[in-house]
Amino acid sequence: PVVTRFAPSPTGFLHIGGARTALFNWLYARGRGGKFLLRIEDTDHARSTPEATAAILTGLTWLGLDWDGEPVRQAARAERHAAVAHQMLASGHAYKCFATQEEIEAYREAARAEGRSTLFHSPWRDAEPATHPDAPFVIRVKAPRGAETVIADQVQGNVRIRNDQLDDMIVLRSDGTPTYMLAVVVDDHDMGVTHIIRGDDHLNNAARQMLVYHAMGWDVPVWAHIPLIHGPDGKKLSKRHGALGVEEYQRMGYPAAAMRNYLTRLGWGHGDNEFFTDDQAKEWFDLGGIGKSPARLDFKKLDHLTAQHMTVADNAALLQELRAFLQATDAPELTQAQITGLAAAIPYVKEKAKGFTQILEKAHFILSERPIEPDEKAAQSLDDVSRGILKELTPRLQTATWKRNILEDIVKETAEAHGLGLGKLAQPLRAALAGRTSSPSVFDMMIVLGREESLARIQDVLT
Ligand code: GLU
Repeated sequence: PVVTRFAPSPTGFLHIGGARTALFNWLYARGRGGKFLLRIEDTDHARSTPEATAAILTGLTWLGLDWDGEPVRQAARAERHAAVAHQMLASGHAYKCFATQEEIEAYREAARAEGRSTLFHSPWRDAEPATHPDAPFVIRVKAPRGAETVIADQVQGNVRIRNDQLDDMIVLRSDGTPTYMLAVVVDDHDMGVTHIIRGDDHLNNAARQMLVYHAMGWDVPVWAHIPLIHGPDGKKLSKRHGALGVEEYQRMGYPAAAMRNYLTRLGWGHGDNEFFTDDQAKEWFDLGGIGKSPARLDFKKLDHLTAQHMTVADNAALLQELRAFLQATDAPELTQAQITGLAAAIPYVKEKAKGFTQILEKAHFILSERPIEPDEKAAQSLDDVSRGILKELTPRLQTATWKRNILEDIVKETAEAHGLGLGKLAQPLRAALAGRTSSPSVFDMMIVLGREESLARIQDVLT
C-alpha cells in the first residue's frame, strides 16, 4: 500500500510551495487508497515554534488536505534516532570519530593548500574500534567507496552523484543528539513511507540519506523531487511576487477547491485539462505528469478556475465556506436573517464569482436592511418620472405570481407603456432594491428578496 507524507519544518506559515508538496502527496495517496501522513520536523529548537505548527495544520485543514493519524513530532523521537545510529555502529556501517574541530580544520587547511578536496576523511574510519572512554565523539556513517551513488528519481530521472563528493556523514553529534539527516530517514522508515514527493532542493540530501538506508538494509522509498515554484516572471518565488502564505489566499477569498485545482496544475499536467474536481485529480494524479521545469504562478488562471468552481459549487457547502471565510477575516458575525438571505441568494450570486469577496459584493442587497439608502449615483435615477412609474408598478407586483418570467413581463410592459426600454425602468428599480447602480439582475433580486421585502423597498423610495 502507498504511504506518503508531508514533513514541514515549523518555522513559519504554510508556504504555497509547501502546500503544493502536501497536495501532491495527498493526491498520490488518496488516489491509490493509501495513507497520507504528517510529520512535524521540529528538531531545530531555535527556529521551531508551536505557532508555526498550528499555522501549518490550519492551512492544511483549510485546503482540505486531511492526514491519517496523529502528526509525528520528530523531536520526540530522538532516542529512537540515536538507537539507529548505535545499531549502525554495532553492524560496522558507522564508526566513532574522535577528531576534534581543530583537527578537522587543520585537515581542510592542508587539503586546500594541496589543491585536494576539502571533504573530511576521518582517520577513525579504518582505525581499530576506539576505546577512549572519556573523549567526546560523533558517529559517522561510512560513505561508499565505489564510483557513484545513483538516485532513481521519478521526476529527474537517474541522478548520479560522485561518491568522492560524499563525506562520512555525521548521524549522531557529540552531545548524543541525532542529526536531521538521520532523523528523516529513520522517521520515513518507521512510518512506512513508500513514496517521498518533495522539493528538488532536497535532491542532494537524498544521496546522503541513501547512506543510512543502505547501512540499515532498509528499502529505499520511491523518490520524486519536484521543481520549485517560480514567480510569473520566471524568477525564484519571493515576497515581491505577492502572497506566499496559504492563509493569505484564504483571506483574499479564494475557495479551497479552486486552490486545490490550481495548485495541482502548478507543475503537474493531464493533457489539456485545466478545470477538474477532486475525484478527477485523485484519479489522474501520477508522478509521470510532473514537469521537469519550474511552474510559474499565474494569478489570472487562479481567478479563472475560481470562477468555474464557484459556478458549479454546491450551494449549501458554499454558504458554509463563505461563513468560514468571514470568520477567518474577522468580519462581524452574520445575523440569522442575513444567513437566511445569503442562502437564498447564493444560487444567483455565485456564478462566475472570482472569490468570496465578490460573492459578498454581489450579495450586498440581501445583507443590507431597510431602509436602503441609495448611494449618490443610484439616487440620480430616482427622479419624479421614474418614481411615478415605480408607483404604477406597485399594485401589479402586489398581485403577480412571484415568478421570474412573470415579473420580467410586468416590468417590461410597464416600461413600454411609457415608451421606455426595460433598462430605463430597471435603473430606479435597482436603486430601490439594492441602493446601488451595480447589482445582480433586478428580477433575481426580487425573487431572492420576496414580494413583501421587494415592495417595502420600493415603497421606501416613494415616500
Ligand atoms: N522539513 C523539510 C522542509 O520543510 C522537508 C524534508 C523532507 O521532505 O524530506 O523542507
